[in-house]
Amino acid sequence: MKLISAVVPCYNEEENVRYFYDEFIRNRPFFEENGLGYELIYVDDGSLDGTAAEVKKLAAEDGAVHLISFSRNFGKEAAMYAGMQSSKGDYVAIMDADLQDPPSLLPELYGYLMEGYDTAATRRTTRTGEPKLRSWFARRFYRLINRWSQTEIVDGARDYRLMSRQVVDAILSMTEYCRFSKGIFSWVGFRTKWVEYENIERVKGQTKWNFWSLFKYAVDGIVGFSAAPLRIASVTGVLFCAASVLMILLTIVRKLVFGDPTSGWPSLVCIILLVSGVQMLCLGAVGQYLEKTYLEVKHRPIYIVKETL
Ligand code: UDP
Ligand code: MG
Repeated sequence: MKLISAVVPCYNEEENVRYFYDEFIRNRPFFEENGLGYELIYVDDGSLDGTAAEVKKLAAEDGAVHLISFSRNFGKEAAMYAGMQSSKGDYVAIMDADLQDPPSLLPELYGYLMEGYDTAATRRTTRTGEPKLRSWFARRFYRLINRWSQTEIVDGARDYRLMSRQVVDAILSMTEYCRFSKGIFSWVGFRTKWVEYENIERVKGQTKWNFWSLFKYAVDGIVGFSAAPLRIASVTGVLFCAASVLMILLTIVRKLVFGDPTSGWPSLVCIILLVSGVQMLCLGAVGQYLEKTYLEVKHRPIYIVKETL
């Protein structure tokens, strides 16, 4: 019998734990028809509410429900990693607890794996229910990162996907600390079938993202999968050097040939401000990479488990 594992990262989702289970379990006839067993791994990412207690209640009713509880909030990336690490399934699905990733799509995703795809991934085609400005920035981000990075980052791709064991093992072999899954999923390769669906709003509770956290996430993505900002910094440096050499020559020629007095400290101040501004910007870009390198070389664990069930 083949096994499907569902990994469900949860952060303060006590209202959704059971909802999700009820929806997921509707696939039971499908599982039986196809000779599939299932396991449901809820990863409690340091929730402050009763998420873990809810999962324990479920686990008492259904032995296929498992719980991994973190010692604090480590973020969804860490939760997905932990869930995948402890999954035993021949196929592994990653699903949000808030039902934005409809479990009713599982049979379709499974169908594509049977056709020979290694991954069936989902992407949303609409951004309804999202502030206009946020959508605009999101689109800019995808344009930018795809121009700068060799790894394709698909606009609107969700983390909801069904993967074969081989793909999961490949993802687990990437043990980096600063995890940007949208990039990691794509980086490992394999044949991926994209399944599109309209955005669904979460049933209960609130999204954990705000504009600032999304911005930081975008920067993480760029730093994790592209070195373009570093290259741009070097190119800017070269351009500014060239410009200053030209200006020095021009000033000397003007002084010697035309006897012009070298005038104008306002222009000088402008140039100093511009150049030092660009320098700070480039230094900042380098700093971003240094920060990530620092985090990686410390080799801290990606998550710490408090309790498992
Ligand atoms: N999540 C998590 N750790 C976090 C933040 C979120 O495990 O630090 C989980 C959350 O419980 C949910 C999923 O990740 O199941 C997606 O989170 P959310 O719905 O807030 O994101 P959105 O769907 O708005 O992108
Ligand atoms: Mg959500």
